[in-house]
Amino acid sequence: MTFAPDIEANLLATVELVNTAEDPDTLTTVEQLDAFYERHGYTGHRDRDAGELAQVRALRPVLRGLLTTGDPEQLAVLVNDLLDAHPTRVRLVTHGPLGRHLHVADDDSPWPSRICVEAAIAVSDVLIAGELSRFGVCADDGCDGIVLDLSRNRSRRFCSTACGNRHAAAEYRARQREQDQA
Ligand SMILES: [Zn+2]
Ligand SMILES: [Zn+2]
Repeated sequence: MTFAPDIEANLLATVELVNTAEDPDTLTTVEQLDAFYERHGYTGHRDRDAGELAQVRALRPVLRGLLTTGDPEQLAVLVNDLLDAHPTRVRLVTHGPLGRHLHVADDDSPWPSRICVEAAIAVSDVLIAGELSRFGVCADDGCDGIVLDLSRNRSRRFCSTACGNRHAAAEYRARQREQDQA
């Protein structure tokens, strides 16, 4: 394992949130927001309304900046800006499938705000570990999705299985064309 389980969970949620902005946008309804909350085992307060949806959607370019900066100094500034802008409160808790883990913001703090704090802390861990190369952009030509490569051999190139399959199919067709011309 590369990072602590709660850090990995936060990284996966952050990357997925950023990637919902890819075409077609997959975070346009409160139902999709609900599904994202459930899928990533969030707990704590939330509004479940259009206002919260708009706030979470607005985080995506901010968080994308966090994941794509690549420059440690610039990233440190972005992290500290986020931690200045959102209330933090660190407690050690035990619940859910993760068992013992840290909460870095109060459960009553607005959910979009907690997402920011959790992302800032998780990305800090990656920065401190010197592992920023774990973040990349999808190798599929038509996709700008973020790739989070937590694999041991750093083999991950695509943001999703769909992009990997699309790329493989395109390569296969290209090879077929070469063979036909040979
Ligand atoms: Zn928790
Ligand atoms: Zn992709």
